[in-house]
Amino acid sequence: MSQRAFVIGHPVAHSRSPLIHRYWLNSLNLDGSYEAIDVAPADVPPFVERLRGGEFAGGNVTLPLKEALFAAVDESDAAATRIGAINTVIVEDGRLIGRNTDMTGFLASLDAAAGNWVGENAIVLGAGGAARAVVEGLVSRGVKKVSVLNRTPSRASLLASRYAKEVKAGLLMDFTQLSEAASLVVNTTSVGMGGTQFDKLTLKALPKTALVADLVYTPLETPLLRDARARGLKTVDGLEMLLQQAVPGFAAWFGKTPEVTPELRELVLNDLEGTR
Ligand code: NAP
Repeated sequence: MSQRAFVIGHPVAHSRSPLIHRYWLNSLNLDGSYEAIDVAPADVPPFVERLRGGEFAGGNVTLPLKEALFAAVDESDAAATRIGAINTVIVEDGRLIGRNTDMTGFLASLDAAAGNWVGENAIVLGAGGAARAVVEGLVSRGVKKVSVLNRTPSRASLLASRYAKEVKAGLLMDFTQLSEAASLVVNTTSVGMGGTQFDKLTLKALPKTALVADLVYTPLETPLLRDARARGLKTVDGLEMLLQQAVPGFAAWFGKTPEVTPELRELVLNDLEGTR
C-alpha cells in the first residue's frame, strides 16, 4: 500500500519538509506521498483521531504544535520526554510514537562538519524550544559543561534546572569570559535571521579549534558564521540540521534510509533563496 506522510503546523506553508521528503520519494523511486497540512492548535484532537485511524504512516510536527503532539502521543523516548516536545510521529497499529529528531539532526550536523564530534565544553545561545533539543543532544554525547546563555535569565535557569550540574545558566554578557575554554558555540536564538546580529558578542576569545554552529538558515551564512569563518574557525550551518532531522522520519514511514546529498542541499537552498 502507498504510504502517506505529512507535516503539520500553523502556519505550515513555509515548511521545506515537503520539498525534502518528495525529493527522496522521487530519487528512491518509492510509491508514497508527503503533504503539508495546516492544523490550528484547537484542531489537534480531531487530527490525532485521524492518525489513530491509520490514514498516515506518520509525519513531522512544526511550530506551534510540538508540545501539543508530545502530550498526545502514546509513547516517546527518554530524550523527547526530557525535551518535552516532538517533531516526528510514527503510527504503528493505531499507536502514536513520538520522537525528537531535532536533537539527533543537530548532532548529525556536527558530525557532518567535524567527523564524530566530541567536546567537553559547549556554549548554547538561547533557551527556547530549539535550545532544549540541542542541550539534550550535547548532554547525551557526554559534554561535561554546557553553558546556556539567554537574554531572559529565567528561561535559561529553567532549562538548566532539568539537568544535573553539567548544564549551567548564564547571560549573553557572560559569553566572552566563558568562550576562552569552549570547544563549541551553538546559536539557537532567532538572532541571525534576515542578517540580524547580537549586540556586543565577539568570538575573539574562542580557541582556534572551536566549532561554531548556527541553527538559523535564512541566510545560510549568518553574521555569526561569517565572523567565525573570518577567524578561521570551523562552522556548521542550520540547513545541515534541517536536512539531517528529516532522515529518521522518512526511514520509519517509507522503509528506506535516505541520504543528505549535495543535490538535495542545493535544491533546498535555491528554494530558500527564491523566497527571500
Ligand atoms: P523560541 O522557542 O521562540 O526561542 C527563541 C530564542 O531566541 C529565545 O532564547 C529568545 O530569548 C531568543 N531571542 C529572540 N530574539 C532575541 C534577541 N533579539 N536577542 C537575544 N535573544 C533573542 O524559538 P525556537 O523554536 O527555539 O527557534 C529558535 C531558532 O532556531 C529559529 O530561528 C528557528 O528557525 C531555528 N531552528 C532551526 C532548526 C533547524 O533545523 N536548523 C530547528 C529548530 C529551530 P528570550 O528567551 O529572551 O526571548
